[in-house]
Amino acid sequence: MTPSTTLSGDLFDRARRVIPSGVNSPVRAFGSVGGTPPFLTSAKGALLTDADGNEYVDLVGSWGPMILGHAHDGVVEAVREAAGRGLSFGAPQAGEVSLVEEVVRRIGPVQQLRLVNSGTEATMSALRVARAATSRDVVVKFAGCYHGHVDALLAEAGSGVATFAMPGSAGVTASTARDTVVLPYGDREAVTALFAERGDEIAAVITEAAPANMGVVPPREQDGTGFNRFLAETAHAAGALLISDEVLTGFRAGKEGYYGIDGDGWAPDLMTFGKVIGGGLPVGAFGGREDLMALLAPSGPVYQAGTLSGNPLATAAGLATFAGLDDAAYRVLDEASVALRGLVADALTTAGVPHVIQTAGTLFSVFFRDAPVETYEDAKAQDTEAFTRFFHAMLDGGVYLPPSAFEAWFVSTAHTPAVLDRIAEVLPVAARAAAQS
Ligand code: PMP
Repeated sequence: MTPSTTLSGDLFDRARRVIPSGVNSPVRAFGSVGGTPPFLTSAKGALLTDADGNEYVDLVGSWGPMILGHAHDGVVEAVREAAGRGLSFGAPQAGEVSLVEEVVRRIGPVQQLRLVNSGTEATMSALRVARAATSRDVVVKFAGCYHGHVDALLAEAGSGVATFAMPGSAGVTASTARDTVVLPYGDREAVTALFAERGDEIAAVITEAAPANMGVVPPREQDGTGFNRFLAETAHAAGALLISDEVLTGFRAGKEGYYGIDGDGWAPDLMTFGKVIGGGLPVGAFGGREDLMALLAPSGPVYQAGTLSGNPLATAAGLATFAGLDDAAYRVLDEASVALRGLVADALTTAGVPHVIQTAGTLFSVFFRDAPVETYEDAKAQDTEAFTRFFHAMLDGGVYLPPSAFEAWFVSTAHTPAVLDRIAEVLPVAARAAAQS
């Protein structure tokens, strides 16, 4: 039975009058799948509750941060305690140091890190450092990778830009667009050719450590060399930098991020983080080699700042989240991910729905297509209408999936076998819906 969405509908109407499309981030509007987005009132563990009192098993996890589940007791208590000591100081505080130390401890190439308020700020700032360090302007990105809504990085981006099939964004100046070169993901020949032609103009290559914003497209090995390592070596040979964006994969794909999975014998120069490191509060971070980070003001010439950067509530939430992210937590995440992938594959196979499930550590996504997805072009070739039917049947059955065929699915340590059973009940119905065109 379709849940009642009367109160969410009223809220959506009110919202659309005063907020563009009724939302503060595009994919939330359900624009590509249609229907009324549930307006949420509370969340606990793996469950969400909306304004009409409907309950959903959550597979969005606020797009990544809620890795320990919603309203995790330890995280809530840490934020409550921090709030009692003051909401913002605009001055140094110990939580910033501890949070950065935790990232530096886990991620080898990060010697120094600055905290910001979003993944977008992190990539924007990393680009500025790379351009300053190299005295070059051009940045290379890959089609289908999303690095936030930074002007220079919106061309052929993933996430909402892919969901709504936009080539880029209006409002980006021609000169900014000219300084961005977009290549097909995984295409080593294209990278080599570009560097041969314009190597001395290129400040940096930026890539998602494992792309997850066109669905999950893990980097492939070729002749024993991973794609990220290839990028590092190619960039370095030309005096350019590699920026590895781990905003989504960081501490999600595994305990040391995706770098912990394929970082052997090579290193990015700069890395970006977000989502998990803020435990659900607004945090991003960029960091890397000490000599590069030394370029930042006030000691260096690269200006970057933030009124709320290193906010005490956000750092408390991040630290409490890290406290829960031990080896046991990653085992639970991995088990939940493996079990859910199995359930989805069984249901779709039984219903005869072409699909491919791709993984990067504990991260995964489901493509409605029968061939592996290696590029953005492949991702775009999936059956998005089948996804839409599947999505709505899941939602009607009480499972909240990302409202886009181009997004990863997010589990948490609260996705226990009992929670997965609830998803398993709905999957066959949704798979049959996907099969009916
Ligand atoms: N980089 C990546 C890889 C991301 O997945 C995202 C957000 N999904 C961003 C950057 C931007 O982060 P934010 O939305 O916090 O600005």
